[in-house]
Amino acid sequence: MSELELLEKSVNGRIVMPSNPEFDQARKVWNGSINKRPAAVIYCNDSSDVASSIRFARSAKMEIAVRTTGHSIAGHSTSQGGLVLDLSRLKGIDLNTDKNTIRVGAGVSWGEFDRATQKFGLGTTGGPISTMGIAGFTLSGGISRLARFCGVGCDNLISVELVTADGRIVKSSTAENPDLFWGIRGAGANFGVVTSFEIKLHKFGPELLTGAVMYPIEKSKEVFDFCSDYLRGVPNSLGTSILFRTMHGPSVPPDLAGKKTVAVSICYAGSVEEGQKIVKPLRENGSPMGDQIKPTQYVVTQSMHDGVNKAGMQNWWASCYLKEITPQLGETVANTFASCPSPMTIVQIQNIGGVISEIGEDETAYSNRSADFILKIEAKWLDPAKNQENIQWVREMKKAVEPYSTGASYLEFCSEFSEETVRKFYGERKVKRLQELKSKYDPTNLLKSNYNIPR
Ligand SMILES: Cc1cc2nc3c(=O)[nH]c(=O)nc-3n(C[C@H](O)[C@H](O)[C@H](O)COP(=O)(O)OP(=O)(O)OC[C@H]3O[C@@H](n4cnc5c(N)ncnc54)[C@H](O)[C@@H]3O)c2cc1C
Repeated sequence: MSELELLEKSVNGRIVMPSNPEFDQARKVWNGSINKRPAAVIYCNDSSDVASSIRFARSAKMEIAVRTTGHSIAGHSTSQGGLVLDLSRLKGIDLNTDKNTIRVGAGVSWGEFDRATQKFGLGTTGGPISTMGIAGFTLSGGISRLARFCGVGCDNLISVELVTADGRIVKSSTAENPDLFWGIRGAGANFGVVTSFEIKLHKFGPELLTGAVMYPIEKSKEVFDFCSDYLRGVPNSLGTSILFRTMHGPSVPPDLAGKKTVAVSICYAGSVEEGQKIVKPLRENGSPMGDQIKPTQYVVTQSMHDGVNKAGMQNWWASCYLKEITPQLGETVANTFASCPSPMTIVQIQNIGGVISEIGEDETAYSNRSADFILKIEAKWLDPAKNQENIQWVREMKKAVEPYSTGASYLEFCSEFSEETVRKFYGERKVKRLQELKSKYDPTNLLKSNYNIPR
């Protein structure tokens, strides 16, 4: 009997090995560009399965990759030859509507989370597609449409339960292991495997004013000019993104197919009436070619982009935080977007700030709180034969926007990154603090399939 077969006898969950017929399905992750063959996928049923698997990996000197839904852009949730710890079976949801808190298992997706909380008009900053997991999103920060209102995902963490790299099951909060809790909020994948999250909830929904006004891409300069001024005066309850897209798909009339557009998309966390007043200047600006802003169930908004983000497509992403937005930035992005090889690719410039920047930079490992905008390049395409031209285009776009960047990138949006990318995200002072935490909680760097803290 192999060592892995022996491990299977000691866990409550299931181990899928290359000899099992479902192995090819079990090793798949969301990003179709990632194709690795782990030694096994361990479906953990509980914290003790996680602890047994970690102890096994240590003694067998095997790499570990942690996975909840497998949405990591960089492919961190799988391994070539190592063990994948799959937490998707940890589905517990315990909602406390007296305290407006929730405890969820690490395998809960944002769709499951939003459906459970929105019934009571509650929620938090959550991933923008419903299939994504709360775990990876929250541990790395978590920026989404309501982040100006609720803070980034990790700002809403009350406590976590995790299995440390030496196989201990511990709790962490501002009261218990507070040093670890600081690192968990923004660099969480580095210190242990989190099995459950306790999260603070905010009141919003179930219906919010959401949608977008859309313009031809030739109007980008004017749109950025307007937004740079308008967004300075909006409340934290308004989340806004400027989106560059190409019209495509069966519902687009033939005369518009292939046209490139710039849109301003919003989500307002207060009442629909208030929201209508706040977005009036935006809707009256210029001559939009479309206006789809309307009251919509938040759970619908949160799954609206699932279809264009199906598992299995090729993906290559990059990002940078921005000092400000200017008409010149709008023109630069529009000019580079003109040569974008894939109609599925989007470039998003999201207004952040708000509650994110009201929290002190040193309060969490999550960094870059003073940036008011973040730019995300999401290149997606179907044919692997087109990988090189799409990756090359992402690099060109990243280079073109560099003069407007603070120099830091949000790590979870990076397909390619170096030690310098990680250092720039956290800054040298925080890197030192994170290194001390790493030596305390994971001295052998067992957990390295992540945006790893430089040694
Ligand atoms: C379509 C799409 C849109 C996105 N949009 C946004 C966005 O708007 N804002 C944003 O902030 N991010 C966004 N992301 C990035 C997203 O936050 C990351 O991909 C995140 O890792 C997803 O978490 P997951 O648990 O679903 O992924 P997984 O792939 O399962 O996990 C990713 C990594 O997180 C770590 N991890 C996961 N679970 C645990 C755990 N329980 N304990 C310890 N470490 C763990 C591991 O390193 C793991 O490899 C987007 C991603 C996609 C694919």
